[in-house]
Amino acid sequence: MSGKDPELSRLGEALSSARSAYAEAKKITDEAKARLNETGSRIQTFNAKITELKKGIDSEYNAMRSERAGGDRDAADEHRSMAQSMQEKLTEIYESKKSCFGELDEARAAFNKALNAQKILRDKVQEAWDGFNARLEYLKEENAKEQAKWKEKPCKICGVPIRYNTEWKHIPNLCKECFDKDKENWEDRKCAKCGKTFRINKGWEHIPTICGDCRKIVRAEKSARMQAEKEAQEESARLAREEREAAASALVDVANEAVSEIAPALEVSENVRNI
Ligand SMILES: [Zn+2]
Ligand SMILES: [Zn+2]
Repeated sequence: MSGKDPELSRLGEALSSARSAYAEAKKITDEAKARLNETGSRIQTFNAKITELKKGIDSEYNAMRSERAGGDRDAADEHRSMAQSMQEKLTEIYESKKSCFGELDEARAAFNKALNAQKILRDKVQEAWDGFNARLEYLKEENAKEQAKWKEKPCKICGVPIRYNTEWKHIPNLCKECFDKDKENWEDRKCAKCGKTFRINKGWEHIPTICGDCRKIVRAEKSARMQAEKEAQEESARLAREEREAAASALVDVANEAVSEIAPALEVSENVRNI
């Protein structure tokens, strides 16, 4: 990865803004939750007070009944009025509790709404994460591919490793230092054959006197000459063979002739012996 990838930067920014939107939504949910809890605990406090008052009312009425049975009217009246004032208090608390239920419904609705918004934003954070990670993986792969294209080979003069990319059109054979030194070794020469200017390197073992084009022509001529020589050699070998064959067959003819001349003579000599 040379430099920063603009697409990765863009995805990184999208991720961080998704995260801060999520954090904001979470804050709202937390506040709504606190309000819901607070309302809920207020209702519980009312419930505890209601239970307590109901118990108090019951015990005041019980006391009233036992005082009445005992004939103490004043005491009985006192207990009844206590029970009545408790009943009034209870009615008040019921009213407060009722309005608190309205608040509870509101708080619950607000909490649910905030929670939904938070969930949507959580999914968006996940999406942004996935996008960011996918790009990062892609870049890592690309980077590995790019790294694989980089190779090393030794400088042809001093042997220090040269780093090169396999996709370069011209892969250097020399290190930077040797290349610069070598540049001074290059010189213009005039072709001995066609007069054209060509470059030679003073470090070469064999410094040509003719240009590349002329060298090509010379090489072509040489190979044509060699081909002609080869053909001439083959031709003379063929002629020599034919000559040898002709000589051999002439020899056979002479021999046959000699035999046919000798044969009658032999016959004659046989006859002579028989006489
Ligand atoms: Zn070198
Ligand atoms: Zn030339």
